[in-house]
Amino acid sequence: MLGLDKNKMQKFDVVVVGAGFAGMYALHKLRGLGFTVKVVEAGDGVGGTWFWNRYPGARCDVHSLEYSYQFSEELQQEWSWSEKYAPQPEILEYANHVADRFDLRRDIQFSTRVTSMVLQESSRWILTTHSEEVIEAQFCVMATGCLSKFNIPKFEGLESYAGEVLHTGDWPKHEVDFEDKDVGIIGTGSSAIQAIPLIAEKAKSLTVFQRTASYSIPAHNSATDKEYEESIKTDYAEFRRSNSLRYAALNNNPNPVSALALESDERDAYYQSRWNDGGLSFLASFNDIGSNLEANKTAATFVHRKIHDIVKNQAVAELLCPKTVLGCKRLCVDTNYYGTFNRDNVTLVDIGEAGIDKISEQGVIAKGEEFSFDTLIFATGFDAMTGALLDIDIRGSNDLSLREKWQDGPKNYLGLTISGFPNLFTITGPGSPSVLANMIVAIEQHVEWIASCLSYLRDNSKQRIEAEVTAEESWIGLVNGIAETTIYSSGCNSWYTGANIPGKPRIFMPYLGFPSYAEKCESVAEQGYSGFKIS
Ligand SMILES: Cc1cc2nc3c(=O)[nH]c(=O)nc-3n(C[C@H](O)[C@H](O)[C@H](O)COP(=O)(O)OP(=O)(O)OC[C@H]3O[C@@H](n4cnc5c(N)ncnc54)[C@H](O)[C@@H]3O)c2cc1C
Repeated sequence: MLGLDKNKMQKFDVVVVGAGFAGMYALHKLRGLGFTVKVVEAGDGVGGTWFWNRYPGARCDVHSLEYSYQFSEELQQEWSWSEKYAPQPEILEYANHVADRFDLRRDIQFSTRVTSMVLQESSRWILTTHSEEVIEAQFCVMATGCLSKFNIPKFEGLESYAGEVLHTGDWPKHEVDFEDKDVGIIGTGSSAIQAIPLIAEKAKSLTVFQRTASYSIPAHNSATDKEYEESIKTDYAEFRRSNSLRYAALNNNPNPVSALALESDERDAYYQSRWNDGGLSFLASFNDIGSNLEANKTAATFVHRKIHDIVKNQAVAELLCPKTVLGCKRLCVDTNYYGTFNRDNVTLVDIGEAGIDKISEQGVIAKGEEFSFDTLIFATGFDAMTGALLDIDIRGSNDLSLREKWQDGPKNYLGLTISGFPNLFTITGPGSPSVLANMIVAIEQHVEWIASCLSYLRDNSKQRIEAEVTAEESWIGLVNGIAETTIYSSGCNSWYTGANIPGKPRIFMPYLGFPSYAEKCESVAEQGYSGFKIS
């Protein structure tokens, strides 16, 4: 690990901020092309999401044979996942394996947070860290993560709470002891849905505060099927290639039939078969769940029925039934989430839009009632997609700050570059498929595009690349235009639109459809980086 000498500014071709899967691959790829690269990471280890989110039950919801790097055939052949959906410790072990195997650590500075970035001489960036170290680089790659700035809502009285406070996105490294404890958990999104069944097994009592119910599909997780693994590994490259042509870059077996084309018995039988398979492929049960509200309703009704079948107390079951459009907020994948509400030690408190009244010294006051806890868990998600970027004071041309530029919502070109901020690239940022794709595939595609772009500049003796304002405007128009043809424009409040953060501009951030996105990026590069000013 390199340290930075405060008295002597270090200079690199590229600085990468963040050492999750994006930053690690960016380092490997760019270093391999002969660029000098430095990675700066706030945590004291690699892995990003999987370094911070150590809560019980944390695991991926994309099959591990797909939620893994494909850039190295040797790596993907030698690594074996123990389960269909690997747990967090194993994904973190994988990240560490990759760091060792490709000798990444020597160019990563850990425990260092970048606090500001200023453009100088119109094409070089000066980065300052929390300890006032300074780094200069020609190019910056922001691998800061789209689900990395965790969010604790500003509850009144939070500072007065005397018990233990935890956030799923910043979970301690040591094992948390829930034995004989009264535990409260605020939030019922993906992380809560993974954690609740396991915490309920340990705690004396678990009280779940739900504002908006989530749809969740059982994972039916299991040990890796070795025969299936072998069959994939005989031609892993082809498996990856065909997955990258799917909408979310996932092997989700899309059914090309409309949900409305079938009689209800037949349709429900099909939903049941998807439910039995488990996981996110439920969304691909029919070809119009994501685009037609009537079709979507048939899927939602099916899940409501399952919830009523699983949860014995029908009043609780009804509260657990989401009233939203299925998939409009992130679809969750669980192991025994709904069934956990049949336990005597688990209570659901549906706080609805009124939310939590306040936090007290003892616990939570909601609906006028005080609930006392030994441990209070915030499963309140992230300031998604823009939070980690805007946490850094980034100043581009004419001292324009990114916070100012994005005050009405993020604007960029290809989800990769921002006009006014030359030589700066964002990985899986807003305007790219990002959280609505298999993210490791999205990360690799971004890193490879950036690497080709930097090689192009070097080969052509160019120093500077910047998105044109007109290209940016038409890109935003395209991203919004695509979203308008889907259920995402049906007005639901989700973190995809920034709705979980008070005051955050509401704008649908991801680009929908990985294959068309990748094609557009490729065609821009083939046309000599159309939409960019290069000098
Ligand atoms: C619980 C959970 C489960 C998930 N499961 C899946 C899944 O199954 N499939 C899927 O496709 N995606 C999943 N995701 C999304 C996941 O975030 C991505 O798959 C992927 O890990 C993102 O990698 P990244 O490197 O882009 O960002 P991260 O992994 O978020 O890494 C960003 C890194 O940047 C660092 N950083 C941020 N700001 C600074 C700064 N100012 N200075 C220095 N360092 C900084 C952070 O400390 C962090 O380590 C999940 C996310 C969560 C939270």
